[in-house]
Amino acid sequence: MRYLILSDIHSNREALEAAAAHAHGLYDRVVCCGDVVGYGADPNWAIDWVRAHVGGIVRGNHDRACAGLEDLEWFNAAARASAQWTHDALTPENLRWLRDLPAGPITVDSFALLHGSPADEDEYLLSTRDAAEIAEYVERSVSFFGHTHMQGGFMLHRNGVRLLPRTPLRLQEETLQLEPDTPYLINPGSVGQPRDRDPRAAYAIYTPESRLVSFRRVKYDVQAAQEKIRSAHLPGILAERLELGA
Ligand code: ZN
Repeated sequence: MRYLILSDIHSNREALEAAAAHAHGLYDRVVCCGDVVGYGADPNWAIDWVRAHVGGIVRGNHDRACAGLEDLEWFNAAARASAQWTHDALTPENLRWLRDLPAGPITVDSFALLHGSPADEDEYLLSTRDAAEIAEYVERSVSFFGHTHMQGGFMLHRNGVRLLPRTPLRLQEETLQLEPDTPYLINPGSVGQPRDRDPRAAYAIYTPESRLVSFRRVKYDVQAAQEKIRSAHLPGILAERLELGA
């Protein structure tokens, strides 16, 4: 079984269509580490796609916020405005679906799916130190997470936590053979709003039988996604950051 691992789609139709087309033929099932909506201008399209294609999913903090399950006070102004806009734009059925998403971690096959960290769905795992601090909460040999919008992740080696390589800027793929008996926390990167200085849509392919992970990137029509954000009168920063990958 080959899995397409998605995270942080953030209502970006152009990026999700490009990622799905790029991954065509390489996977049998699709799973998602949360944040289907928020920031982008196509929330109903994104949810409809996920409902039709995704077989395992956990909620993200933006999913909670857009579903009205969250006090928006702690969000920055742009995130708050987009959460409110998304909440108002969603169909009643999609709003109900969003509200019912489970908190992670959940187990799919032999691996875990979660949004932030295994200890707290809102926690950011940015550094090897962050990963070392929550190592005791890691229950599965392989866990996929999102939230930081940074492709890569961590190998919890007995001699210390190590960073995983992401796709180099000049390539579309970086394949990693996972070592046996070593836990991994793996971030496929963000489909719809990358923040690792690479504006290309990010995702991963995972084959549990061979313990192979491919980090992948694909260019998409950033300008079309930006124009939709601007014509929806969402905060301009949400359009600008897409071309920077930041
Ligand atoms: Zn996110």
